[in-house]
Amino acid sequence: MKFLDRFYIPWSRVEWVTCFFLGGTLLLTLTAVPWYILTYGLDWFQVGLFFIWFFLSGMSITFGYHRLFSHRSFEAKMPLRLVSLLFGAAAFENSALDWCSDHRRHHKHTDHEDDPYDISKGFFYAHLGWMLFKLKPLPPMENVADLRKDPLVMWQHRYWHLIGFATGFVLPTMIGYWYGGFEAALGAFLISGVARTVAVQHCTFCINSACHSLGTQPYSARCSARDSWIMALFTFGEGYHNFHHEFQHDYRNGVKPWQFDPTKWLIWTLNKVGLTSNLRQVPDEKILKAQEAERERRRLEREGRAPAEAVTEENIPVIPSRDGVLN
Ligand SMILES: [Zn+2]
Ligand SMILES: [Zn+2]
Repeated sequence: MKFLDRFYIPWSRVEWVTCFFLGGTLLLTLTAVPWYILTYGLDWFQVGLFFIWFFLSGMSITFGYHRLFSHRSFEAKMPLRLVSLLFGAAAFENSALDWCSDHRRHHKHTDHEDDPYDISKGFFYAHLGWMLFKLKPLPPMENVADLRKDPLVMWQHRYWHLIGFATGFVLPTMIGYWYGGFEAALGAFLISGVARTVAVQHCTFCINSACHSLGTQPYSARCSARDSWIMALFTFGEGYHNFHHEFQHDYRNGVKPWQFDPTKWLIWTLNKVGLTSNLRQVPDEKILKAQEAERERRRLEREGRAPAEAVTEENIPVIPSRDGVLN
């Protein structure tokens, strides 16, 4: 009976629109996209447009929704915030306001009941299962009071479906038509619209599933978050998730200079030209101390002695930064 319970579907709570959108775009990507490529071929225009749209919508999630709006790890000028909101909608991962509310709850309650994408409920649940059913009652959204004061965020919250449809599907289709008429427009719709949406979504979803299951825990084992350089390759640097959960207000996820984190590089570069400011970073000493403490805890655990208390962002001693950057 317990085993069968796992397959129980609460039909009255199914989020039908989400199910059809996720299922429909995936189905088209697996059928119509290969058909188009086999029928009309694939030229550099279609490949280039796919990667540009993948970059615009994917980076709008990591740079905008995640590090800027959810964590406020830096400040950005209005045009950047606007572009992040316009193309973030094209990833079809909810409005920035809803996304940030879920994400802040994820950080606050990681691996527990109130974590919206709690990995302890299984890989599939954390990946996308959590979106397929209505939560009863809906969680309060008082954790985004700061974002509610931002008129741009509220405007996007109201119209994000329309905005996403325009920037995610209509715009690449129009560019395709301009480039090569109906045939190229159809290709742009299928490849840069539909397949690109599926690609960006599953890369983001992997942060909640794979980055809470596979990889290393160099900074702390107090929650399931893990560092994975492989995942970082597909997620603009968000794969260094163990560091991120330990130091969530740092604008970097791949904190070491050699770690692949294009979002960090973009924020840093835009800072040099004055478009981003107040980049928050944890002092090196604090990071090294966390790594050292975790190494020591593991050593004691291996030797069968009581493991030392995991060092967290809260209990770690504050060490003044050498360069005066805030944390
Ligand atoms: Zn996480
Ligand atoms: Zn985060």
